[in-house]
Formats: sequence, C-alpha cells, structure tokens
Amino acid sequence: MKTNSIESVGTTDLLTCVNTDPCSSPVTSASETAFSGPPSTGTSTQCVHGGELRQKSEGAIATPIYSASTFTFESTDQLLDFVEGREQREEYGRYGNPNERVVEAKLAALEGAEDAILYSSGMAAIVGLLMSRLSAGDEIVFFDQCYHRSREFCSKHLARFGVVTRQVPTGDFAAMEAAISPKTKMLVSESPTNPHLTCVDLEQFAAIGKAHEIETLIDATLATPYNLKPIDYGVDYVLHSATKYLGGHNDLLAGVICGRRELLDPVRALRGCLGSVSSPHSLYLLERGLKTFALRMARHNENGLAVAQFLESHPRVDRVYYPGLESHPTHAIAREQMKGFGGLITFTVKDADWRATSRVVDAAKLARIAPSLGGVESLIEQPLVMSYFGYSPEQRESFGIADNMIRFSCGIEDSADLIADLDQALAACDV
Ligand SMILES: *Cc1c(COP(=O)(O)O)cnc(C)c1O
Repeated sequence: MKTNSIESVGTTDLLTCVNTDPCSSPVTSASETAFSGPPSTGTSTQCVHGGELRQKSEGAIATPIYSASTFTFESTDQLLDFVEGREQREEYGRYGNPNERVVEAKLAALEGAEDAILYSSGMAAIVGLLMSRLSAGDEIVFFDQCYHRSREFCSKHLARFGVVTRQVPTGDFAAMEAAISPKTKMLVSESPTNPHLTCVDLEQFAAIGKAHEIETLIDATLATPYNLKPIDYGVDYVLHSATKYLGGHNDLLAGVICGRRELLDPVRALRGCLGSVSSPHSLYLLERGLKTFALRMARHNENGLAVAQFLESHPRVDRVYYPGLESHPTHAIAREQMKGFGGLITFTVKDADWRATSRVVDAAKLARIAPSLGGVESLIEQPLVMSYFGYSPEQRESFGIADNMIRFSCGIEDSADLIADLDQALAACDV
C-alpha cells in the first residue's frame, strides 16, 4: 500500500519524516509523498492530528505501539537501498522507531520547528545536545537560575571534558555579553526559570547570540509551546522535559529538543551513539498525553493564576513568584511573550523557619509531596528539602533557595479545591 493519499496537519517539512506507514512497503523517498496539510491550524488541532498519518496500519485510529528493537529487510537489495539513501525506513531501535517519529513530528508542529529529537528524559536531552555541540576548550555562558541538575552537569561534568561554563545573573544581558569570549559556543537559559519563574527577554537573548555568532538554547519546560514559542524570537534550540506538561500525566520520562534540521542532524547522530532513547510504550503514552495538551494547559494556566492570586492575598504568605502576577519582577516580559503563565507557583511562608514550612507541606491533603511538575495531579514540595538538602546554607542562598520556600505545581483539579486545601495547610505553620 502506497500512502500518498494521506493527509495530516502541520507544515510539509515537518511531516515528510512520517509520511510512510511503517507497516506498508516503504516509499522510495520522503519527498515522493510530501504533502501539505491544511494551511494554518490551531494548537488543539495540532495536538490531535499533527504528525500523524491519515490512514494507519490496519485502519487503527490510534498509532499502534511498535514494540520492536530491530526492523527487518526483505533482501540485501533492500538493505542497499537503505544504506545508499534511496529509501527512508527504520533500522534499529537505538536510531528511532515509528512511535518516536510520530511524536517528534507532532512536537515539531507544536513548537513551529523544522525538526524535533526525543530523548529518554529532559536531562538526557540537555546532555545529548551539549555533548554534541561542545568540545574541549569551548565555553558556554548560562543564566544562573536553572534546574539544579542542568547546573550540575555543566559545572561538574562538562568541566571534566575541558568545557568552561560561565554563570551570570539571570536576565543580566550586560553580564552575559561581558562573559562572552571568542571561545563561547552557546548561550543557555530557561524561561521561565525554575523555581523563581523569571522570564527572559528572548528577543535580546537571541540577538546577542546572533551578534556574536553563538548558538542559543532555551529550556522552555515551564512555558511549554502552548504559552511560548522561543523559535519565533530567533532562538536556535528549544528544549523541554516532556516528563512535565507535554506528557502531563506523571507517568513517563522524556525530553525533546526542537530546532532547525541542519543543526539537529549531528545531534541526532550522537543520540544514536549515546542510546538515550525512549521505549515505544513511553512514546505511546506521550502521544496520548499530547492529544489533550492544549486543553490541559488552558486549565493549568487558569489554576496557576487563581492560586497565585489567592496566595498573594493570604496573610501567612510572604512572597509569591508567578509571572502572571503584576508583582513579579519579569511580569512585563511574561505578558509580552507568553499566552498564559502555567501552573507552577513558588511562594515563601511568612515568618516561618524550615520546619514550620515543612508543616505546611505536610498539611496539604489534595496536593501530593513529590518532585516534578506539570502533571494532572497537583504536587507540593519544599525545594530546601527536596532538591537542595545537600547544599550549604551559603550555596542555597546563592541559588536563591530560601528555607521557607514552597513550590506548588497546580494540576488540573478545580481551583476552588486547590485554594481550600492550601488555605487549611497554611494554618499548620502556627502549630
Ligand atoms: C524536570 C526538568 C528538567 C529535567 O527533565 P527530566 O525529564 O526530569 O530529566 C530540565 N529542565 C527543567 C526546567 C525541568 O523542570
């Protein structure tokens, strides 16, 4: 069965890589079946249809789970067609599988990127990208508010391979420019950052990269492509921990890098060596999670704003970090760049030491104590205990992690229930 009657959603370019039904005889080239989907489609439509074949194996409406570690060739001639580039198809699971190609095309469509590469986790994606782009003697400059393992990988591990990392205060573009040298190969930031929710002016960030001919990377895990499209600002690489909002159900680990195909080809080649790929079962869950991504994000945004406003007005709360609040130092940037502000809120409890703060966490009845964010279930945690317990008070202060800080990830429950739960939990710090 030739599959040139299929149609899908997204740009022609994005979809060429999934143009063949993996169960049918492979087509001779991707361009032979290139097609364009409906011209401009909305995010929800892309969530449901982006990257998918119109007609799938056996007429199944959902993408089957291709649980195979390797893919067979009918003959040496067919193998030669593949090896000599006349035929695009699967080969061996470490280089990709049909479930991965569908999800990659869907994510590329959502991000407005030419291509996307999936990894077994967000950290695997960061490591995979940096290992591919950097060599001994190179330097990177990154904004200091960031996911603690990203910071650890750069300062502790890249250093062992002779890569120098320079941290500058988040949003301080003058410091960033001052830290750039002829050896600088990449500028790295999150937006919004974790856990302070600082939003970075992406226009300035990308402009500095272009002016110095340095590649730029934004970890947009907290924003998601629903709320922010860094590529529109000229950022080269957009990274997500798909474990969070993209998967959305706290039931899988995955990471993704989106960008131009020319830049991503060598990154994908290194992933084939590193082997940091997801199983087809996880990818099936990710595809299923993505179907409702836009619906979930609308609710996360709604709950995030309602809970943040509640916390800001609460007498036991000292400070609330949420980019949707006017009180947030980067609210103006957030309002300019983002469609919504997500479900993650960080706040400090007034006049509470770390133990009194723990009591608030423990008193939550609805939100569960766990790391992670972006899933349908609300989660609560005290960064001091969850992620920074091994650090000295001086180090914690330098990272801006206060003893009385709580990070709350709004799920998709009813905001009135989340607010009632936090209200009763906050009373616990007095005990
Ligand atoms: C969770 C997270 C990561 C790491 O992703 P994993 O999927 O847990 O490996 C990276 N960056 C940010 C901002 C995150 O929240």
